[in-house]
Parts: sequence; structure tokens; C-alpha cells
Amino acid sequence: MEVADTRVADFITEARNALGAEFVLEKALAQAFEQCVSGHSRRIAAVVQARDIPQIRIVLQLCKKFELGLYPVSQGKNWGMGSRLPVQNGCVVLDLSGMSKIAHIDPVFGTITLEPGVTQQQVYEHLLQENLPFYMDVTGSSRESSVIGNLLERGVAYNTLRVDQLVQLEVMLADGSIVKTGFGEAPNSLVSHLYPHGLGPNLTGIFLQSNFGIVISATLTLLPKQESHFVFIANIRETRMVANVIDDLRLLLQQKILDCVVHVGNHKRREITLAPLVFEAAKKYGVTLTRGECEGLVNRTSRGDWSAVGVIAGNRHCVKAHKKIVQKTLGAYGKVGWLTAEKLRIAKNAMRLIGLKRQLIFLEAVTPLLGYALGKPSSEALRSAYWPFCNEQANWQNPDFPSDGGLIFCTPLLPMCSSAIEKFHQITQEFERTYLVKFAITLNTMNRSCIEAVISLEFDRQNADTVQRTKTIMTNLLEQCAAEGFLPYRLDIDSYRKFCNNHTELSRTSQRIKQLLDPDGIIAPGRYGLSAGPRDARAC
Ligand SMILES: Cc1cc2nc3c(=O)[nH]c(=O)nc-3n(C[C@H](O)[C@H](O)[C@H](O)COP(=O)(O)OP(=O)(O)OC[C@H]3O[C@@H](n4cnc5c(N)ncnc54)[C@H](O)[C@@H]3O)c2cc1C
Repeated sequence: MEVADTRVADFITEARNALGAEFVLEKALAQAFEQCVSGHSRRIAAVVQARDIPQIRIVLQLCKKFELGLYPVSQGKNWGMGSRLPVQNGCVVLDLSGMSKIAHIDPVFGTITLEPGVTQQQVYEHLLQENLPFYMDVTGSSRESSVIGNLLERGVAYNTLRVDQLVQLEVMLADGSIVKTGFGEAPNSLVSHLYPHGLGPNLTGIFLQSNFGIVISATLTLLPKQESHFVFIANIRETRMVANVIDDLRLLLQQKILDCVVHVGNHKRREITLAPLVFEAAKKYGVTLTRGECEGLVNRTSRGDWSAVGVIAGNRHCVKAHKKIVQKTLGAYGKVGWLTAEKLRIAKNAMRLIGLKRQLIFLEAVTPLLGYALGKPSSEALRSAYWPFCNEQANWQNPDFPSDGGLIFCTPLLPMCSSAIEKFHQITQEFERTYLVKFAITLNTMNRSCIEAVISLEFDRQNADTVQRTKTIMTNLLEQCAAEGFLPYRLDIDSYRKFCNNHTELSRTSQRIKQLLDPDGIIAPGRYGLSAGPRDARAC
């Protein structure tokens, strides 16, 4: 037995004794944490499923004792970027999905304090039960993905950026101490869950996209429900128009006519997202459609090379006025459709009555996607991971489950202007021609100035050459984008070394903070390029 194996075996024995055997996964179950949908793979020392703060503290102490890295995940559904795999081989994965308490909701101001394992669906159901005038903004990921893991990656929800809703974090540091950011530790503060900054330096941001601590709870703002709520779907006839659409969107956002994330997707994104939903909806109505028929229905119903989806919400007078302006602006590029939950319900009933089955199937298919706008999470977008390979898949709700379908994302950031979009089109089209691939692309407006491009590529996970080729394409694409000034807003676990520059003064400062807070480099070694230097926990 090698030294490393002995260390791991001793860690597992002591962890089982200290926590209870059921909290340390059997080897066969732990192996499922070593592969994922994005084609990354890692060797893992063990998986510990902690349920409370004292357990996390014990695991930290044991990792320090046995010189093992500890990689915390909330739900571990970071699909397309490494899922629940650690950055380095030989780490213990700390699975926090069992810490799933919603600790506090402020029914007046609309804030929520929750633990790492709390899922989008859990928050949705809880708020429904409490009948509050607030909802939590959701991502398009899945009902079972977490709020905190998404936040710590600075994820993008349907209407807002997660990080913009963040008020406060509670974090366990490597020595087991707990720090609460903002006013979290101020005695008698009535605003600790309302005001993010506290007094003096605000440390909240240093725990995002880093490895300085283990987040054990977060407080976020909920979104107030509005009197009127419209989703628009604007078709964009030709790719060459997208650059102008983006200029128009910037103006609409600057003028506050729009106050949402607008999702501008290409034809492939629309097809792989909607066609499997059409297939499923048809089954519900006893109709079997072929792939061609599903894709045909999607393309006939929403025409155009691209489409833009967004939300206008607020007081009904403002919404009416803003709708008019958006209709006029985006109507120049193609048809603009407007939907509300009520309109959708009425349209479905009408189709049912007059027997327009295909139209009814289409409306049924888009229903879960419209729910996003109002904070109703759905897992249906996950079907886009298998659709390029097959019509149906048994374990589709967990894309990491071994199957043919692989999926990887890269996410460069662009300034929100036509010249950047034209350059971006040039780069992606050149890659498509060179490598004979077709990217699914969504351009999400992140604020009034920046666009996040979500570029995904599917591949056959069973073929090692294809996995390698796809990774190479995505790395080259990211490099080419970075060379044009389009740096990524978020990275997959293989890309930190390349894109997190360790030679800037800023990164040296971050490394110094890491050394101060986690001198043995126990927590998530290598995440976003951060390590504690030579004293980093040794990988097995
Ligand atoms: C079809 C599809 C659609 C998607 N749509 C979106 C979308 O709309 N928006 C979006 O942002 N993403 C999206 N994703 C990507 C991803 O699935 C989500 O971001 C998801 O929320 C991340 O998984 P998670 O919440 O379980 O986080 P985790 O995987 O648990 O966490 C992510 C990372 O954060 C760190 N971390 C997690 N918890 C802790 C903790 N408690 N302490 C310290 N560090 C921690 C770890 O390094 C971990 O790897 C999508 C993916 C797919 C396949």
C-alpha cells in the first residue's frame, strides 16, 4: 500500500468513527463522483456527507491531520463545468446537500437565509406555502440545483444575477472559526439581513469564486411579485441583425424600459431546448412525433435565426408603456410575442376546444420555460443535454449519469455593443468552419453594459478522442475570445490554470489572503487558480 493510500484509509476510518459510518460514502458510491457530463475526470479520496456545522469542523480537522484537500459542494450540479469534481486529484469531497434548512424568511422585506443544500425547488415550495408576495429568481439549471453553489460561481438567474441579490454570508474558515460578513456579527443590528455592506471593509465578495472558506449559510434578497408580468419572445430574422439588437437592448436597459436579463439565443440553442419538450408534450397527448416533426414544429412556431426572451414586470401602467416601446424596437427585427401565465392558460384551453393539437403541444412544451420568469424552477432544460444524441433518456434529470451525451460550456464576457458582437460572431463562425461543429449560443445581458455568452458543445462521452477534441476546441475558443478581450466570467475546473493569471499584483494579493486564511491549503486547492503555495495539502 502506498503512503497516500494509507493516509486516505486512515482518514476514512477516523471520519467514520467520528461522524458515523453512514456519513462517509462506500467506495463504489464515491466513484460516481469521479466522472461527469463535461468529460472531466478526477481521482477522489473519499466523499463525506456532512449534516451540520460540528461535522464540517471535524472533517476539516481530519483533512488537516491527513494532509488531504477538502472540496465542498452544495448540490454538486455545476454541470458543463466540472459538476462536483474537485479541481485537483486526491481530494475529499464534502457534500453539503444534506444541510438543507431554510433558516429565516423576512416576510416584510423579502429576504431569505438558507443552507448550502437548499434547492431552487425547495425555496419555491416554501414560498408558495407561506403565500408571500415574493419569489426567488431561478436559474435554468434544474429544480434540484442549489442556490448557494450557483451564487458561489456567480451564476446568472432568469431575471437577475445571483450575486446582485446577495446580502450576507456565513463562512467556516480552515481553522474551524466562523465569520459572518456585513452586519452579521454586529450586536443588536436590525439590518444585518437587509444591508449588505456593514461598516468598514465588506468581505463578502472574497468568498465568491475562491477557496477561502466553506459557506455554511447565505442571506439573499427575494424579488417582489408584480401586478403585471409579461414575457416577450422576439424573433430575430437574421444573424447579422443580432449586433443591432444588442445596441438596442443596451439603450432599453439604460433607459430602464427593460430591467431584466434578456436571453438572446441562436437557432441551435432554441432547437435543442424546445424540441425535446415538444417530443415529451406530444407523448402526453398520445401523439408520437419524429425528431424532424418536433424540430419542424419549433422552427415553424418561432421563426428567425435568433430569438430574444425577456420580462417586463411592474405596475400595469408602466408595463403597458414599456411594452409599447419594446414592441416597436424589437419588432423591427421580427415578430414579437407576449405571454402571461393567464394568456397561456386561455390559449391552451382554446386549442383544446378547437382541436389544434400541434399548437397545443407547442404551448405545453414552452410552459415550464415561462415559469422561470416567475420563479418557478424546472429541470426541463436538462433535456437539451441528451437531445443531440437520442429522443429520450431514462436518467435525464442527472446529466452526470453515465450515458453517451456529453456537454461542456464556456462563458466569455463581452461589452454590450454591436462591434463586440460582430467580432464574437466572426470568432465563433470561424471555429464552426474549422472544426465542423455547431455551437449552441445564448447571449445574456448581465447588467446595462455586459453580455455573458454561454457557448455549449455536445460530444460523445464514450469516445475518448471526441472528449479530448471537444475540450481542445473549447479551450482554443476561450483563448481566442480572451485574445480579443472577451475574458470568461466563470470557468470549468480544467481551465483555471490557463485563465487565472498568477502573475498580477491582484492574484498575488489573493494568494496572500489564501495563505493567511488557509495556510495548509486544505479548502478546494486550485479553485480559481488559488493555492497556499508549497504548504498546500498534498494531493494523493
Ligand atoms: C441545461 C443547463 C442549464 C443551466 N442553466 C444555468 C443558468 O441558467 N444559470 C447558471 O448560473 N448556471 C446554469 N447551469 C450550470 C449549473 O448547473 C448551475 O450553475 C448550478 O446551479 C450549479 O450547481 P450547484 O448549484 O449544485 O452548485 P455546486 O456544484 O454545488 O457548486 C458550484 C461550485 O461552488 C463551490 N461551492 C459550492 N458550495 C460551496 C460551499 N458551501 N462552500 C464553498 N464552496 C462551495 C464548489 O467549488 C463547487 O464546485 C446550467 C447547466 C445546464 C446543464
